[in-house]
Amino acid sequence: MIETIKPIHVIGGGLAGSEAAWQIAQAGVPVILHEMRPVQATAAHKTDGLAELVCSNSFRSDDWENNAVGLLHEEMRRAGSLILAAGDQHKLPAGGALAVDRDGFSAEVTRRLSGHPLVTIARGEIAGLPPAEWDSVIVATGPLTSPALSAAILERTGETALSFFDAIAPVIHAESIDLSIAWKQSRYDKAGPGGTGADYLNCPMNKPEYEAFIDALLAAEKTAFKEWEASTPYFDGCLPVEVMAERGRDTLRFGPMKPVGLANPHKGGERPYAVVQLRQDNALGTLWNMVGFQTKMRHGEQVRVLRMIPGLGQAEFARLGGLHRNTFLNSPRLLDRQLRLKAEPRLRFAGQITGVEGYVESAAIGLLAGRLAAAERFGRPMEAPPATTALGSLVNHITGGHIVADEETVEPSEESGKSRGPQSFQPMNINYGLLPPIETPLVDEQGRKIKGKDKTFARKRAASRRALADLAAWLATATGGHTT
Ligand SMILES: Cc1cc2nc3c(=O)[nH]c(=O)nc-3n(C[C@H](O)[C@H](O)[C@H](O)COP(=O)(O)OP(=O)(O)OC[C@H]3O[C@@H](n4cnc5c(N)ncnc54)[C@H](O)[C@@H]3O)c2cc1C
Repeated sequence: MIETIKPIHVIGGGLAGSEAAWQIAQAGVPVILHEMRPVQATAAHKTDGLAELVCSNSFRSDDWENNAVGLLHEEMRRAGSLILAAGDQHKLPAGGALAVDRDGFSAEVTRRLSGHPLVTIARGEIAGLPPAEWDSVIVATGPLTSPALSAAILERTGETALSFFDAIAPVIHAESIDLSIAWKQSRYDKAGPGGTGADYLNCPMNKPEYEAFIDALLAAEKTAFKEWEASTPYFDGCLPVEVMAERGRDTLRFGPMKPVGLANPHKGGERPYAVVQLRQDNALGTLWNMVGFQTKMRHGEQVRVLRMIPGLGQAEFARLGGLHRNTFLNSPRLLDRQLRLKAEPRLRFAGQITGVEGYVESAAIGLLAGRLAAAERFGRPMEAPPATTALGSLVNHITGGHIVADEETVEPSEESGKSRGPQSFQPMNINYGLLPPIETPLVDEQGRKIKGKDKTFARKRAASRRALADLAAWLATATGGHTT
């Protein structure tokens, strides 16, 4: 029976590709995993092991009840994840985090995949679009996809860019913004396409506040560029906020922090000296993006400096800013909810290249792509999990939950003078803001009234429990031939 099933090809034996190959094989479908190392190197990998961790050895928090990445771990465990199984087996002491022995972890993933009867590992670069006879392919080649394959994907998708600097601006949880200081208004109350005229949240600054903020930006510690990042120039349109501040104390006040067309209703309609604008970042309205605030400040420094902004004193960050080279698709436009390229559905994508960020998130999308491809191979196509699960919320982020920036805020590219669409879609880690809101429970398990900060924890726990219940229902209907 097995011999008659055509294999699925997975390109890239990183976090996503290894997980995808495992899921396919566990479903009973033969899989050929193509990994270019050691034949062809990348700028960051150092070994020929599968699922090599290129930087930190942490999978972050393992607390499924109170932390979104912990929840993702738990969902993946329940779905029979190879990456989580190998991580748990090679766990190191790290408080509430799941940190792993990177060599033991990678060796374990390599051992389990090489020992699986349905897995073939083929070493070598796929240097262009896969041959036409490969009718089901998962591309999981990551942020450092080889240039030849990148060029072929770029041509097939008709996009203008695939590898570029992520100009990542911080994203803030809506509930942590102080609306007694900030207010909603678009510049000149302009409604624009699909807008209401009150689409931005504005945080006002007076002159002393602005001057103190510029001083803090200039003094803050910044991260250094990696050698291979330093050789890639960045566009003026996505300069880090602190680089703009270095160009002159008023550069920001005439740039992203300009106060024109805005009147502060909390101060009788007065025009502020400078303004920080936030734009809704997801369809749920739970996340807000700091417009023009891409930054290379160290993460701790970002929290400290950005909380100086009036209205953001208690801000909780769903994502901190950064600027690094990456390769990712404009997935909301190019992929369907099955993670297939709309223009060529035999090609599925998984991992960082789809616009998720992080080891665990990349493996999570690999898990789903593997399951979806295997189900399709059996002629029993299935849906991705619901958006109330951490797994489903990631699919939602990359295939539809994201709001496209309007023309006014997308800077034109230096080369073409046209707006660069993918700039508005940015990779993201899992966070609770990607899940649909849930009502805060009024009382705890002992029947006591939940007050103050405990409300946030209670809400997270409620969202986590809902996620695991909904995942169980999805797994029950979607397991197919899986042996988990
Ligand atoms: C320098 C750097 C540091 C990072 N640090 C962290 C961190 O500390 N924590 C974190 O959570 N995330 C980090 N990330 C982000 C990201 O989550 C990881 O890169 C993660 O490994 C992505 O998983 P992936 O499977 O999509 O890609 P990868 O794990 O990179 O796997 C892709 C694989 O595809 C192979 N490949 C590429 N092109 C081809 C081809 N044409 N043919 C065959 N094989 C090919 C590569 O050799 C590689 O093995 C970092 C990224 C980079 C670039």
